[in-house]
Formats: sequence, structure tokens, C-alpha cells
Amino acid sequence: MAEAGSFADRVKQQADIVRVIGEYVRLKKSGQNFTGLCPFHGEKTPSFAVHPVKQIFHCFGCGKGGDVFSFVMEMEKCPFPEAVKVVAEKCGIAIPRPKERTPEERKENQQRAALIEIHREAQAFFVRQLESTAEGRAARAYLEDRGLNAETIARFGIGYAPSGGDVLLRQLKPKYADKLLVESGVISRDQSGARLFDRFRRRITFPIANESGKIVAFGCRALGDDLPKYLNSPETPIYSKSNVLYHLDRAKEPIRRQDFAIMVEGYMDAIAVARAGIGNVVASCGTSLAEPQIKLLGRFTKRVVVNYDPDVAGQAATERSLTLLLEHDFEVRVLALPAIGDKKADPDLFIREKGADAYIKVLKEAPPYVDYLIARARQMDLSTGEGKQRALNFLMPYVQRIPNRLLRSEWATRIAQQLRIDEPVLRAALNKSATERRGEVKVAPQLVGKPAKQIERRLIRMLAEAEGFKKELAQRLQHGRLYEGLETEKVFAALIVAGLSDEPIPATEIGAQLDERERRVFFEILFEDAQEPTWEEAESCLDALRRRQIEQELAKVQKTIEANPSGAGLRELLERKQELMKQLTAAGQPG
Ligand SMILES: [Zn+2]
Repeated sequence: MAEAGSFADRVKQQADIVRVIGEYVRLKKSGQNFTGLCPFHGEKTPSFAVHPVKQIFHCFGCGKGGDVFSFVMEMEKCPFPEAVKVVAEKCGIAIPRPKERTPEERKENQQRAALIEIHREAQAFFVRQLESTAEGRAARAYLEDRGLNAETIARFGIGYAPSGGDVLLRQLKPKYADKLLVESGVISRDQSGARLFDRFRRRITFPIANESGKIVAFGCRALGDDLPKYLNSPETPIYSKSNVLYHLDRAKEPIRRQDFAIMVEGYMDAIAVARAGIGNVVASCGTSLAEPQIKLLGRFTKRVVVNYDPDVAGQAATERSLTLLLEHDFEVRVLALPAIGDKKADPDLFIREKGADAYIKVLKEAPPYVDYLIARARQMDLSTGEGKQRALNFLMPYVQRIPNRLLRSEWATRIAQQLRIDEPVLRAALNKSATERRGEVKVAPQLVGKPAKQIERRLIRMLAEAEGFKKELAQRLQHGRLYEGLETEKVFAALIVAGLSDEPIPATEIGAQLDERERRVFFEILFEDAQEPTWEEAESCLDALRRRQIEQELAKVQKTIEANPSGAGLRELLERKQELMKQLTAAGQPG
């Protein structure tokens, strides 16, 4: 937990939980809270809430809740110190140098920092080559021929890797150990292991940045007819292909603003689309989209237009990506660009030939993915039963992945009409496989808190928030032991201790002392819309608890008397009963 005065505490004071969580979950203002779809369990209607004032979150579905750090720990699957760092970085809070680390951690961090530095130097080198060498100028002419002017080249950091074979190596070697250079991926080692050389030669270089804008890899295109046409950085300690989306560092703001992303295949496509003034574009940099990339994108939007190349590989990639995107509840449209003459058009070619406006027009008209798939199925031979079966087999896996039952049913009808398939037959097939399909995550019933009674809920809220009288209230509750035996007894006990203390204790810390079920009830109460409490109301709640206490004792006394009407001590019991009846009258009637 964040100790008072510690760095974590300072971060928590400064961090805006809505902004941090907003990077992972799309939040909408709803009353005093923000709500969205819970990232921890599958759901269709938002039951996840963030409280900007109390700086806490809570899911009414699965019950997860806590402060900004527990959220990041859960999302990033990282320990507390790491979560503090993540939040600090997101909020632009300078991180003090860590005092102690394990030697391994320190070594790893140094290695990562050195690898980033190598990439920074390599990037500067490639850019210089493009600008100031004869070879580079030829590369520049090639780029200009493809419609990339100086402004675009500078904006996207495009550079050139010369053909020499060791030009970059000679520059880096004095500063870095051979082993580190090879680990960076920009330098390779020959098979004998004796000789080092530049991995990228005679190629246009495109820097690939991670989400926070640090260059971690390069994508390189051959200048001539050299093979392979594209050569990228290998996997390194700072780069994993499936974890990075090209251009996301710049696209994340536009994506969040417009609440959708355009997914293209390569960096040239992304650059072409971004140049056309459409900033919310990312490239998967490879023919198929990997699950970590989808999760990454899902932090910014759940709506995507897939615009892959129209060739066979691109179609297959589109269909593979669809499967994954649907599983992650994305709303997907597919843009299949019309051919230009007899040429199949990728986004780069299309924009060059037809212009940005034409692209924006087809983008707006991009059909939902099911329409795209039906169109693909209709290209199959539907004149025979076998052909129809094939088309159906092609479509069915996608339809089954639609998590929404109503939508699934709607699409079944459309497919039946379009493919001229008997609808009941199709529905039977669909239902059969629907039962085999993974359902939404069910909430464990024992976790669902029983609703505490209204009076308890009000008192808990007051104990947590009524700055003017919560101490007095805590004293009264403790003195009369009024909360004992309540369903929420433990919540009261924790709040009373906090209320009596002179230091303000945040809700998350109180929550941390409770077990899961109790914390859940507590957070739910904090999120309820409620009126400003008054002392008058507090007193009437206290009265109600007092009556309840008396009534309970009265019932007990009565039971003892009835169980043994002639026993010893009857006299005392009867006296006690009288006394309690009197107290009850004095405590007044519930009103
Ligand atoms: Zn949840």
C-alpha cells in the first residue's frame, strides 16, 4: 500500500484514476461516476464504475475493485512497485532512481536502456545516410517516385541502410560490446560466429516505435529487387512482433477521439493513410494479427476497420484477424478496396491513384464483416448442395463467434436469404455449435454480496464520508456496540477504527482490510447515488440500530422465560424484560 509521504503516495495523489483507467477501458460519464465495460470479465452492458473523487473503481458484475494501482496490477499482471511506475509514467510524474534492485533487474534495465540507445543511434545514422550520401539520394528518388515527399520522410523518420555491409557497425562498435550489438538485431553475426555485419543493407528503413514512442525495431524494404522484399528486426529483449502495432504511438489519441481504428498490413499502407489526414491508422506489420496486438488495440477502441491487401494472402489474413477480433468483442468492418484497372489495390496504391477523399469515402462505406464474408461466400459455387455446404462451413465459425445472441440470429436470417439456404436447417446447425461455444464468464455466486439493509448502507456511507461528524458517529456506534451482529459488522469495525483515527484513511485501504465479499459490499455502497448526509439522519439510523439491539435482547429473554417458566432466576429475567420494554418505548417508534 501507498505509505504516507512515499513516492507511491505522491503518485496516487497526483494521478487521475479516470485518465489512467481510460487508457484501458472506454469510460462514459454517468452521473458522478464513469462507467464502462469491465476489462476483467466478459460483459455486454457496463457494470464497471470509476469514482473520480474517491479515486476508486468497482465492478458490480465480478466484484473486482480498488485504487489506480490495484487496477494496473490486475491489467498488466505486475507487482505493486511496477504498477506505481506505470501510473507515474502515464501521468508524467518523474520517477526517482530506484535505491535497491536485484542485480539481475539492474542488469536487465541497463541492457534495455542500451538497446534503446543503439536504436536511437541507428535511426540517426539511417536518416543521415538518406540525406547525405550518393546511395541515399538514389533511395530518396525512389521514395519520391512513390509519392513520399521530404515532409513525409521526415515525419515518419524514414532512412536508408547503405550497401557497404559494415558502415553502421563501424559507427557502433567503439561504444558497445559485440554481444549487445547482436542482441539489438541491427547487427548480425555470420555463421562461423567470427564476423559481425549490418543486418540491413541497401534498404529503406522505417523505424518501429513501441506504444510510448521509443524506437525498438526497424522494418526495411529492399531498394531494388533484392530478396526478401521486406526484412524486419528479429525478436529482441525490447521488441516482440506480436506486441507492437506500427504507428500506434501516434495513432492512440486520434483512435480514442474517433473511437475506431483502421488496421492495415504494412508500414507503407499506414503511412499512406496517415498522410491522407487519417491519423487513426495502425499496421499489424505482418499478415496476421496476433492476440497481444488485439489486446493492445482494445485499450483504445473496440471498433476497427480491417483494410488488408486484396490478394489471397491478405484475404486469408483478414479472415484470421476477424476470428480473433470477434473473440475479443470488437465491432469489425472490412474495407476491401475496389481494383484500379486490373490492379488489386492496397491502401497505399489506392490513395496514390485515387486520392485521400476517395479513400475516406470507401472507408465510410466499409460494410460490417458479415457482409464482407457473405460476399466472399457468394463467390463460391452455390448451385449444388455441396457448394452450399462449403459456403456454410466457411461462414459458420464467424457467426458462432458473435457473442450477442440477437445479432447472431439476425445474421443467420441474412445468410439464409443470401445463400438461399433453408433457414431452419441453418438455425439448427447454429444452435448445435452455439452450445459448444465458450460462454461469457459467469460470476461466482458466493461473491455476489447480499444487499445490506438500507440503514446499514447509509451509516457505512456516512462513516466513510461525513467529514463533519464521522468521528462522533464512530464513537456512538462503538460505545453502544450497535453494529455487532450486523451482516456488515466487519465493514463497520474497519470504518470505526478509521473514523476514530486522526489521519484520513482512504477507502481502498479500508477495503484492503476486508475480505472479498465485504469489500465488495463496501465499494458498492460508496458508488451508490446518495444525498448529502445530515447528523439528524445519522441519529435516526442510530436509533433504529438501538431498537434492533433491544428487540433482539428482548426476544432472547422471552425465549429463556418460555423455555423454563418455573426455573431459578425467573424473577431477574422478568425484571430485565420490563426494563427492555421501557427502553424500547423510550427509543421511540420507527419513523
Ligand atoms: Zn467485472
